[in-house]
Amino acid sequence: MISLYDLLEASNSQLFGEPAAQLFTAFSVDSRKRQDSQLYLALKTDYGDTHQYIQEAIENGAAGVLCSRPPETDTEGVTVIMVKDVEAALMAWAAFVLRKYKTKVISVTGASGKSLAVEAIQQVLSGQYAVHSREVDYPGRLALPLALAGLRREDQFVVLELSPRHVGEMDEMISLLQPEVGVITRVGYSHLGRFSTIDSIAQEQGVLLEKLPDYGLAVLNYDDDLIAEMQSRTKAHVMTIGMERFGADLMAYNIIVGQNRTGFDLRSGGERYVGRWTPLLGKHQLYSLLVALAVGVHYKVPIEDALKRLTELQPLPGRMKPLNGLNGSLIIDDTYSATPQSTLAALDWLQSVKEEGQRAIFVMGDLDTLGTGAQRGHRIVGQRAAEVVDVLITDGTEAALTGRAGLDYGLQPEQVNITYSLQDVVNALLNEHRLNERDIVLVKGGESASMERVVQALLADAADSQYIARQSDEPYTGALGVSFQPLKPCWIEINLDALASNVQHLKAMVGPNVALAAVVKSDAYGHGAVAVSRTALANGAQYLMVSTISEALELREAGITAPILVLNYTPIYAVRQAVRQNIAITVYDLALARAYNNAAREMRARLRVHVKIDTGMGRMGILANEAMAFFRQLSSLQHLEIEGIYTHFADADRDLDYTNFQASEFKKILSPLRASGFNFRYIHAANSAATIASRDFHFNMVRVGLAMYGMHPSETVPLPFNFSPVLAWKTVVAQVKKVPPGYPIGYGRTHYTLGEETIAILPVGYGDGFRRAPQTWAYVLVHGKPAVVIGRVSMEKTVINVTMLPNVAIGDEVVLIGKQGDAVLSAEDVAKFLHTNNYEVTCNVLARVPRR
Ligand SMILES: *Cc1c(COP(=O)(O)O)cnc(C)c1O
Repeated sequence: MISLYDLLEASNSQLFGEPAAQLFTAFSVDSRKRQDSQLYLALKTDYGDTHQYIQEAIENGAAGVLCSRPPETDTEGVTVIMVKDVEAALMAWAAFVLRKYKTKVISVTGASGKSLAVEAIQQVLSGQYAVHSREVDYPGRLALPLALAGLRREDQFVVLELSPRHVGEMDEMISLLQPEVGVITRVGYSHLGRFSTIDSIAQEQGVLLEKLPDYGLAVLNYDDDLIAEMQSRTKAHVMTIGMERFGADLMAYNIIVGQNRTGFDLRSGGERYVGRWTPLLGKHQLYSLLVALAVGVHYKVPIEDALKRLTELQPLPGRMKPLNGLNGSLIIDDTYSATPQSTLAALDWLQSVKEEGQRAIFVMGDLDTLGTGAQRGHRIVGQRAAEVVDVLITDGTEAALTGRAGLDYGLQPEQVNITYSLQDVVNALLNEHRLNERDIVLVKGGESASMERVVQALLADAADSQYIARQSDEPYTGALGVSFQPLKPCWIEINLDALASNVQHLKAMVGPNVALAAVVKSDAYGHGAVAVSRTALANGAQYLMVSTISEALELREAGITAPILVLNYTPIYAVRQAVRQNIAITVYDLALARAYNNAAREMRARLRVHVKIDTGMGRMGILANEAMAFFRQLSSLQHLEIEGIYTHFADADRDLDYTNFQASEFKKILSPLRASGFNFRYIHAANSAATIASRDFHFNMVRVGLAMYGMHPSETVPLPFNFSPVLAWKTVVAQVKKVPPGYPIGYGRTHYTLGEETIAILPVGYGDGFRRAPQTWAYVLVHGKPAVVIGRVSMEKTVINVTMLPNVAIGDEVVLIGKQGDAVLSAEDVAKFLHTNNYEVTCNVLARVPRR
């Protein structure tokens, strides 16, 4: 319980209006959730400001609000506490209640295994003492008051996990908590994103040791060199734990790693305890048990009792948790968090337990923030996976590096699936690899990869989802800084699940006898060609089409082996690359065709080509009435392999009659060509519009771009209802200010305010592809409502009018294309603003805008 009077006494705070509730059951940071009897925290941090959600929190039942600005909403019946700094007030409150209840603090820090260590310590002590602990998923000091909210007067101990985010934060947390016991599990990479080096992490973790009192205890991992060296930094009693080197005070040895349990003997000083088993999986998990034993010894818990309680400790959700999977498979859910080290440890386990006849499958998402070590960390895991696993499936852009490393270190292409969406992971497992009762599937990934969704999809019994970590669909982001934090505050979000589903619909539409070619030119219309290509191929596309040889090479470089056709002009000097990389090119001119043939002959190879016919588009292609003669000449070019013939429609999204005319012109030349002995593996004409408009245009292959991205060919040829858009473009508010009437806005002073207006500045401009002239966006979305763009767009800045939207603040999300709340601003809407088509809209977001 949190008492209003403790809060008032601990911090320099004031009541705003009459108080209502005086006791609160918990702190709430997520205004979207039900929060009856809770105190909502309106936070203003480096990551955001959640004062704007006070009203929503009250609507969801909040009994009180702690804030640093007066709420601009009706707070009747709600206790409102005002402080200068909410975080500081919470920290002061935490210190206050710890002193008041005289609760002893045990703090755990380290790169991995913290939460299991916390759980194990609580398990050991609670046999004899009243112990409080609560898992909080947020890093940084704010986790402490959130965890202490449930503290009771009778609690003798509280066990807390410390995850500092920057240098100095550990010191702050320790000064507040004054812990009696400090545990360091492992020095490692998990926080490296925010620290410059591993030594700076060790330094920060060591602060915990320096601040322990002389009657306190430091528990150190004897197997970790960096930690072992820290011994001298504390005046507290030191206990070391370990498994690998003799000399630790508490040592586990004779370790037996099993598929459903782990066995060990324990040595504590001269005493031995033999033949113990724990249901926790993997040798690395034993560290947490040893840590808890050490704390138990310090507080006089008999080792036998502690061991008994610990061996009953069940695996925690998301931490090497075994679950029954589909088709009798065994799923090991290790999705709670991931560093390279903990991933390697999980692979060690997999290697030790795999039996004859079993298949080891490893599903991996992006690892947690590794900063500049990301590439290396992901590759090391791939290298190790190649030694251990039978199948490697990756999900995400960074995890793709693991997949590539797996291939480089000896896995065969059929053993590796590099994917970018949940659906594709599940499809690969079920359809391609035929998941079955001989399979052990290890699923792992960093917090932000949300790989628990894969586990969820693979459960044999949906009721088991209660054993999965982090179940909310939309994780809380707000002011705690746990979401995607682009360092350029303007970014593209690509929903590859939507793409996967669109491609499946298209494949169902054309049927099994028509090949689906995914058009990924112009970096997949701005969506990112590599991820789109892989996702399309995994969901029914058989062929990729690009504009230029350079685009084709980018795909080959990424390891994509599917057939590729270059739709546009290929210079003669580039054709050797096409031959070498098995890329098909388009021919439509005899002189070029001869030159291509010569190049192929010099390389003693054949070049695959598709012949393009102009049936009335008036663009690239050989005119229909010259086609016969052209083919006669082509047939003498022995080094060209004519794989396909195609044409392109000029008006398929508007004029069905004209499209029918072009199709019949195309057919007219096909029959005589067939009669003269030309056989084409692929005959194609249809783009998205024609694919949707009629089966008559499908021939035996369709070339689809737009529809795959969930964009409508036109108002006359809309997408079926079950397609959805893939791309969103977002930025945030950089400044908000009131300006007087008649005030000029932007370069050239093209706009003057009418009355007093509130304007917001956005850090986006034509340098990102946000068009300036002759037209720009009419409006963008803020707080789920349209906000009009005013004045000229600059290279890096844009101004919008938010006079009608109260409480717009720095850091608020702004949608340039996409959805926000119930409001939608589609690429088609933007196309209307810009007097162009939706293709140009998404292609023109420049490549320097980060994608995720
Ligand atoms: C771009 C392109 C397509 C794809 O068109 P969508 O309308 O995006 O489906 C098909 N064929 C050719 C020749 C193209 O250049």
